[in-house]
Amino acid sequence: MAVKEDLVSKLMEVLDLLKRLDGVDSAVLTYEGLPLKILNMDTSEAEALSAIISEELVRLSKYSHIGKVNYVVINRDGISLYARIVDPRTMLIVNCDYGLMGLINSVVDQVINNKVVKCSNCGFNLTLQPIKCPRCGKSIPLIARVCPFCKVSIDARECPNCGKLVTHEGTLVKKSYAPLALFGGIGAGTFIADLIIAYGLGLLERAASILILPGVISIALIGLGIYFYKTQYRMW
Ligand SMILES: [Zn+2]
Ligand SMILES: [Zn+2]
Repeated sequence: MAVKEDLVSKLMEVLDLLKRLDGVDSAVLTYEGLPLKILNMDTSEAEALSAIISEELVRLSKYSHIGKVNYVVINRDGISLYARIVDPRTMLIVNCDYGLMGLINSVVDQVINNKVVKCSNCGFNLTLQPIKCPRCGKSIPLIARVCPFCKVSIDARECPNCGKLVTHEGTLVKKSYAPLALFGGIGAGTFIADLIIAYGLGLLERAASILILPGVISIALIGLGIYFYKTQYRMW
């Protein structure tokens, strides 16, 4: 019983993460073919789905698909469902974007095998945390190396506990100064060039206000450099 409760409580935590992700429509955790915890689904619907998927998996197991891969994608009424047989009695079914399935499966693997990703600075469990994609803003699992929606590669994300930047494996990210140097350099450089040109043309003596617009643009560029440095957002 203790083993079951341990596994089930871990999977309940996975459902709590799924609740906070974009692209997840509904989910159900089943035990011996019956719904144990449901996300965005009627009980009757969850019961029907649990029964149908269980049967489907029995049918599939005859063709020895299961055992080689630890999850299956089942198409039902034009919807793709992720179904993971955690143990012979416990199953997780998720109605989600196809591109999310591999990532959700990694989360399940890490959680049930006690191999969660931890922040190397503070030890916080990162596997069960969501982050916002720096490009498209969708809520995705923190452990995603590539955003499943916009495909941007994410080198650094903030640990929700200590705020340090970490990789998808939880190790600290060494900050790159490239974005700061690039944008800061262009910003400062153009302002100095404007200053020299304005001075050379004799405009500066007549109206120093001529520098307001280039000044604002330069400050914006430097600000952008600082932002990209802080977030370590990769543009290339
Ligand atoms: Zn994205
Ligand atoms: Zn941390």
